[in-house]
Amino acid sequence: MSPPVIAIDGPAASGKSSTAAAVAAALGYAHLDSGALYRGVTILALELGAPPEPEAILRSAEARGLTLHYDGRAFEVYLAGEPLGERLRTAEVTSAVSAVSALPAVREWINARLRGLVRPDRPVVLDGRDIGTAVFPDAPLKVFLTASPEVRARRRLQQRNEDASSARVEAEARILKARDEADSKRPTAPLRKAQDAHLLDTSDLTFEEQVGRIVAWAAHPGLPKIGG
Ligand code: C5P
Repeated sequence: MSPPVIAIDGPAASGKSSTAAAVAAALGYAHLDSGALYRGVTILALELGAPPEPEAILRSAEARGLTLHYDGRAFEVYLAGEPLGERLRTAEVTSAVSAVSALPAVREWINARLRGLVRPDRPVVLDGRDIGTAVFPDAPLKVFLTASPEVRARRRLQQRNEDASSARVEAEARILKARDEADSKRPTAPLRKAQDAHLLDTSDLTFEEQVGRIVAWAAHPGLPKIGG
């Protein structure tokens, strides 16, 4: 039996998490943002100092209780019983996360946790970079969400209520492209579209349209109908 998972992968700032959350709410599924767990591991790696040594990072993750808690709607990343929240999204974490994510031992540790959370009675919309290619290659529905770097950069700046002048958009697009390149070129589970994933370029779509497309694709015999 295939796992009750909708896999949404794509490059940085492609709107995966907000889209995945809206799809999960529409279908009554749980939402899990796998990037948040990579960011949680990165916080511990930064605390240990460079260069990151995978065994030490994972020992710290186990000892300090880096976990995912389900709140009835989504999985949130906790450290020592407290949600990490906005600490996951600092510029320092964002610039270090790709190097930590390239470590095969870190990926194995995270994948074991992600796979352990999916149960037949709790379907999940899971977003990341390698969900459809490596973590759940048997997922009945896979989506590769993308948009041009400029569109993604503008949306990201607007989301943060920051100045979206063309110079700022260009600078932000450069940062996104560098992270995409690091994520696409790593040897283990690089960012790429699964062969059987639907490609969804959102450059000219509204948020509601992109969510609607995925919800329509979710009418699949391998996916349970729960209803939001
Ligand atoms: O999605 P988000 O931008 O929060 O992801 C942060 C980083 O985590 C990505 O740039 C990537 O390096 C890593 N990641 C990954 N595999 C996933 C999810 C995220 O390598 N499934």
